[in-house]
Amino acid sequence: MKSVNRPNIDDIQLLKDLCGKTHIKCHPYLSHEYLIMLAQYQQFINNNGDPHFCPPVQISTDLEDALEYHYKNPLKSLSFIPQIRYEVSTSCCPMCGSIGTGTVDHYLPQSTHPEFTIHSRNLIPSCLCNSKRGNVITGANANERIIHPYFDNFLNQRLITCEFSGDLSAPVVRLRQLVVNQTVNFHINNVVEKTNILNWLSDKWASLVRSPQVMLPHLPRGRHVTEQEVQNSFISTRDDKDLEFESFNNWFSIFFSGLENSNGVAAWIRDIQNSLVTRRIEEDEQ
Ligand SMILES: [Zn+2]
Repeated sequence: MKSVNRPNIDDIQLLKDLCGKTHIKCHPYLSHEYLIMLAQYQQFINNNGDPHFCPPVQISTDLEDALEYHYKNPLKSLSFIPQIRYEVSTSCCPMCGSIGTGTVDHYLPQSTHPEFTIHSRNLIPSCLCNSKRGNVITGANANERIIHPYFDNFLNQRLITCEFSGDLSAPVVRLRQLVVNQTVNFHINNVVEKTNILNWLSDKWASLVRSPQVMLPHLPRGRHVTEQEVQNSFISTRDDKDLEFESFNNWFSIFFSGLENSNGVAAWIRDIQNSLVTRRIEEDEQ
């Protein structure tokens, strides 16, 4: 989950320009259905794409197919499409916060809203969470919808963390929402929780337990550490990850903020680190 700048594209002018081109795939379908498309584009722009205010309309299968063709084979004027896929936010998925992107998510899905197939503000860089979230975009309540990374400024705060609990030799990990916000809650349930984030967090936990100082570069080396020093290293590493991925809600920040906020974890890691240090000192003395 990450706020990103929306593409600097005038979609309505682009639609007009495409309509005037007689040699491209969407001709003559686009000119026949131009007013329908224009009304939908204006609706999207006026409501920042909020799906509660952008009900789908019927467009012809010919136009739907032609838009899909232009999406897959972008004309020069549609070069923003590969840029969204490969250049915007390469290291953090704006939709789920995983580490990496490489695909494009149609915010309003193509299957329900094919008229927005090449609308720049409907195209969001994402990872494979794109295919896992399906077509669910709204809930019953007006505030229940998927987060839009181009418009939802609340993404610039820490929205989500995790919690490790139970027996810390094999802890239970769960996500925890940090703000009371129905949109965030809906998004976590329908996008983030459908990814493999819990397995990823468990995997990072295993790496941490194997070698705390590899995962925690701020941890003092070569001597025993205190619980407070471990806690401080969680916070410093979380802050580093916030900066590295330009988001408070990337998976690494969720992991390190979760360590910081889970009961007993700092003391548990302190004991592991100190036993490793003790073993190393003993080996050096032999
Ligand atoms: Zn994702």
